[in-house]
Amino acid sequence: MNQFETEAMLSTHYQDHNADAIIPPIYLSTNFERAPDGTYPKGYGYIRENTPNRAHLEDCLKVLEHGELALAFSSGQAATAAIFQSLGPGDHIILPDQVYYGTPGLLTEIYASWGLSYSQVDMSDLAAVRSAINERTRLIWMETPSNPLLKIVDIAAIAEIAKEKGLLSICDNTWATPVLQQPLSLGCDVVMHATTKYMGGHSDVLGGALVFGKADAYALKIQRIQRLMGMVPAPFDCWLVIRGIKTLAMRVKAQTQHAKALVEFLQTHPRVEKVHYPGLKTHLGHEIALRQMSDFGALLSVQIQGEREEAFEVVNKLKIFRRATSLGGVESLIEHRKSVEGPLSPSPENLLRISAGLENPVDLINDLSQALS
Ligand SMILES: *Cc1c(COP(=O)(O)O)cnc(C)c1O
Repeated sequence: MNQFETEAMLSTHYQDHNADAIIPPIYLSTNFERAPDGTYPKGYGYIRENTPNRAHLEDCLKVLEHGELALAFSSGQAATAAIFQSLGPGDHIILPDQVYYGTPGLLTEIYASWGLSYSQVDMSDLAAVRSAINERTRLIWMETPSNPLLKIVDIAAIAEIAKEKGLLSICDNTWATPVLQQPLSLGCDVVMHATTKYMGGHSDVLGGALVFGKADAYALKIQRIQRLMGMVPAPFDCWLVIRGIKTLAMRVKAQTQHAKALVEFLQTHPRVEKVHYPGLKTHLGHEIALRQMSDFGALLSVQIQGEREEAFEVVNKLKIFRRATSLGGVESLIEHRKSVEGPLSPSPENLLRISAGLENPVDLINDLSQALS
């Protein structure tokens, strides 16, 4: 077995029988011709069911997360919705207290009328997770590190509870990426990704993914939901994510080093109240992160001394960081999280979230330094 970087690169290779091209062609065709006997010898009939660029991306995702089956979606939210769609009226879900806002968003705005309910619990408290389980609970959803306080969930411990109670365990692995954390190997049943973020890596494609540890009846049920409901990405979007996967490991490693340099600088700055980063020994989830991640990632949050106004002042003085939401691209981004999440958001008013990019960290630190002066 090769190392991760090599396996990732090999997965992106494509055998082009037409021109021996190194980079895969993009198949825009919506339909494929039958053989004289009425069959589809290459396995493709109609684009919504299956198409070469999507099948290729799904093969890559399967390799990256060491799963038996992978499904590519039109967005991270579509991947999450496919999971919720597999449940029935009356079913109950457990979410972490801190989770991507769109996850409970789907449950409150869409699936409440479908009869799904959910509880949010602090997953660092395993007893709280156990007591949140009722007879209608079907799945436990994890997201680690979390947005925006980078809380850490013990994936193996939660997956163990799920297994014991006969529940499905799912981990949103968007932030860590398989470069730093592989939930299936920690006992989780399903991994979810917004490929919009680090997988694509260049802030130019929307996509999602689910990778299943077992290609069982449940995985095939989700595949029917993906195909029958048309929750699928376009061929060009698949092609872009595959291109991103070629540099995923190197980007994530370099961006993580840059984030660490920023953390080190910010931590001792007199205008900084607090830095949230799982690599810090003082971070509540540090010990667990050390155990389940190979490194701590390229995202951090910082609380500026003061209130909303002081936080905005810092953001607006920056020259290299772009003021934008989202994360995982090659450019450094900063955002006032509370403004994005709205008035109900638990994010502190003085909190800024940073997605470290590939610029030289010396320049990033200088930029932060002048903005904080
Ligand atoms: C962005 C994001 C999502 C949603 O993905 P979309 O592609 O925007 O639908 C889900 N989870 C996390 C952690 C994210 O960062």
